[in-house]
Amino acid sequence: MKTLDNEYQKLTEEILECKKCRLWKNRKNPVPGEGSLNAKIMFIGEAPGRMEDLEGRPFVGAAGKLLTELLNSIGLRRDEVYITNLVKCRPPQNRDPLPDEIDACSPYLDRQIRLIMPKLIVTLGRHSTKHILSKCGVKVTSITKVRGKIFLIKVDDVLIKVIPTYHPAAALYNPRMRTFLEEDFKRVIRREVNSLMSTKRVSIEDFF
Ligand code: URA
Ligand code: SF4
Repeated sequence: MKTLDNEYQKLTEEILECKKCRLWKNRKNPVPGEGSLNAKIMFIGEAPGRMEDLEGRPFVGAAGKLLTELLNSIGLRRDEVYITNLVKCRPPQNRDPLPDEIDACSPYLDRQIRLIMPKLIVTLGRHSTKHILSKCGVKVTSITKVRGKIFLIKVDDVLIKVIPTYHPAAALYNPRMRTFLEEDFKRVIRREVNSLMSTKRVSIEDFF
């Protein structure tokens, strides 16, 4: 674990000092990501918002509250998964990240995936879904077409399952989207999580 810790620490320090794209100019704090380095499940959002920029932590605002509730609803705590974003600094006025910003920043995410090597990645929203599914040759034209489905990507010869779903921030103001997001968690994500965590979770009641 020592080398993983060291590598992760090094990567985090690089992100904290990074000026590889224009987003460093307006940020208060870069947001590298947080959670367990041994996590089997990784959640990838888009970019920090206002609260995340202030605190330097991912998903701590309104969308974060919803994400935390969704995790808890399927028996997961934040500290047993890993949570990060495609882009590590806040875009001004929360605009979409631009293609050159994604190109500059996504190598950090790819290094985080290689270090943590989760068994399952849940992509939240169009941007992280597009980036991750490009690794298995899937061109995402609309998040609606891929949400709730299971894809496989190969990272260093290891297969990782990917489930795209809607972004919690989008779901906050769109009740239909929120229902679909909740359904993805309740069904496909819960099923995959339970099978990954099964050794820990089996209780005697499950047999009766
Ligand atoms: N939205 C994101 O995509 N990421 C965060 O960390 C917060 C809001
Ligand atoms: Fe560096 Fe990413 Fe921040 Fe751009 S968004 S400055 S690439 S850490």
